[in-house]
Amino acid sequence: MSIRWRLTLWFGLALGVAAILAALFFYAAIQNWVISVRVDTRLSVYSALTRDELSGGTEDSIDYDLAVATLPSLGYSDPDHPDSTIWVQLADADGNVLARSNNLGDQVLPVVSGEKVPMTASGGTLRILPYYFEANGQTYQLAFAQSLSSVNSTLVTMGIALLLIVVVFVTLATASVAIMIGRALSPVKKVTATAQSIASSSDLSRRVNYRGSKDEIGQLAATFDQMIEQLDWLMRSQRSFVADASHELRGPLTVIRGNVDLLKRNLREEDRSESIRVLETEMTRMTRVVNDLLVLAEVESGQLDREQTVSLKELLLDAHERALLLAGGRQVVIERQEDLWVKGDAHRLDQLIGNLVGNAIKYTPERGTVTLSLYQDGGWARLDVADTGVGIPAEHLPHIFERFYRVDKAHSRRSGGSGLGLAIVKGIAEQHGGKVSVTSEPGKGSTFSVWLRL
Ligand code: ADP
Repeated sequence: MSIRWRLTLWFGLALGVAAILAALFFYAAIQNWVISVRVDTRLSVYSALTRDELSGGTEDSIDYDLAVATLPSLGYSDPDHPDSTIWVQLADADGNVLARSNNLGDQVLPVVSGEKVPMTASGGTLRILPYYFEANGQTYQLAFAQSLSSVNSTLVTMGIALLLIVVVFVTLATASVAIMIGRALSPVKKVTATAQSIASSSDLSRRVNYRGSKDEIGQLAATFDQMIEQLDWLMRSQRSFVADASHELRGPLTVIRGNVDLLKRNLREEDRSESIRVLETEMTRMTRVVNDLLVLAEVESGQLDREQTVSLKELLLDAHERALLLAGGRQVVIERQEDLWVKGDAHRLDQLIGNLVGNAIKYTPERGTVTLSLYQDGGWARLDVADTGVGIPAEHLPHIFERFYRVDKAHSRRSGGSGLGLAIVKGIAEQHGGKVSVTSEPGKGSTFSVWLRL
């Protein structure tokens, strides 16, 4: 059974039980009220008047002989309202009936026992108010009674009306709850339908697109869409990454195959050594791409040893020394070098600095300057690698850390770049809980900054 019908059923049951209990309580209260107003009050008034009549002048007692003599003429009857008849009967303590009002005919009232309060007898059809008095050393019971049949029929009619009201109320309430639950759960149905269609078609472009209220279930639908959006993005970037990587490797492979074909022929010595040089270059390029791919995969899967205590200053000085060997006519200077330590993977952090410094040299012409700075910036260690190189046009800046993204493809390839250097830098920084950013002005230079938590 669906959640909707289960909830509706439980609600209907609970409401039905509560409504029936309330109706029973209401019925009992009305029954009490009607009997006390329409019967008990009359019996009490009539009893008081009769006792007064039979007191024979003595206060608060009854003259036995007068009572026996007067009783047949007592009682009240109205032919138009037979239910308002009041009967009177006198009995002794043993239950023997001694005298009755004439309007009783052949009937005999049951002799009740108990307090001087109205009570119901004869299976709910009679209301009797007994009164006790002493005479001749004995206790006698003077009973006043009225039929309950008209009250009972009124109550039965009311009971049926009450039952109908309960049935209609419970049915309407349960039906509206079923509709409300259906509406509230409709996003869940949409989520399920979307998930099923994605599962059967592998089409991650499908969305729930729920436009209703932002309650818990609305949020579930929105979160589902976000999740599919991310999954879709991940799958697309994965696909384009595989395509880019294949493309990246196909170039050198084509060159290698062409040169191997050439070498199979009888070439002149100088052509032969040129082909071998090209083969070496392309193989170095391929090796670099494959190595960088492996590093990136390792970094992004989080396989780092982040527990080492690393001196960033030492890494900076090492990178500076290596940079001096590659700098050619460029200047490589350290502007600030604070003694900062972080927790992380020393080898990967060294690679991060190396990639940034390598790029700065690669994209800065001879006689340019590369400036390194390491200093504390709030709770972060900040590393800036600034150059006076070619710079990066603004439209490329948002993509610069993407895999295989290059501003000047030819220059990057010529200088042996794999297009993965900055993606690796970003991956390493993020795996250390840090971040990277870049500011640049074409023709003037670029500054790459890395923040690592101290
Ligand atoms: P590559 O192997 O091509 O250098 P990277 O991921 O290291 O790959 O860099 C991506 C692109 O960003 C480069 O192709 C280059 O266009 C640009 N770039 C990176 N560093 C610099 C820099 N210091 N100055 C100018 N452009 C840069």
